[in-house]
Amino acid sequence: MIEIGNHHTVGEFRPGLDLSLWIWVGGQRVFGGSVGWLPAQFGEAAARHGLDADAVASVVAAYFAGTAARRAAADAAEAQRRAAADNLRAATLAAEAERERTRRQQRQCAHRAQTSRTVGYTGSSPGTHGDREAAGGVTYIDVCRCGAERYTDANGAHADVGHWLID
Ligand SMILES: [Zn+2]
Repeated sequence: MIEIGNHHTVGEFRPGLDLSLWIWVGGQRVFGGSVGWLPAQFGEAAARHGLDADAVASVVAAYFAGTAARRAAADAAEAQRRAAADNLRAATLAAEAERERTRRQQRQCAHRAQTSRTVGYTGSSPGTHGDREAAGGVTYIDVCRCGAERYTDANGAHADVGHWLID
């Protein structure tokens, strides 16, 4: 049985650490060659050691093909990881730009109530002035199309109109 290995161990070869690829036959180390050799060169050397050149060349070719496939898979995984990180960065930047655009629109908006709802008074509302006369009734919440909100505390004839609140 023809197997590859390093100088010490059959079946063990560490690309980048082991500089020579060794051919082992029946658990015996026979000869080694540079990792830079082509499979055919291992075949030629095998013939000089009385081994079947084609058989050795094909074992080496299969090993190199496996190494190339593992490297390609690792490269693809790394490329995918980088692409995901790039996408996340781009999405974060886009979200920040969108928030900044919204804030700018809100600062420039003349604010008008687009929708309103009424809730029970729960205490002086954000943006109001704490007018005691307006306390204890209801609170109107106006929402502008830009997202700004205005609270108005109202009780009978008294209204405490807050200022428009943006994020
Ligand atoms: Zn507005």
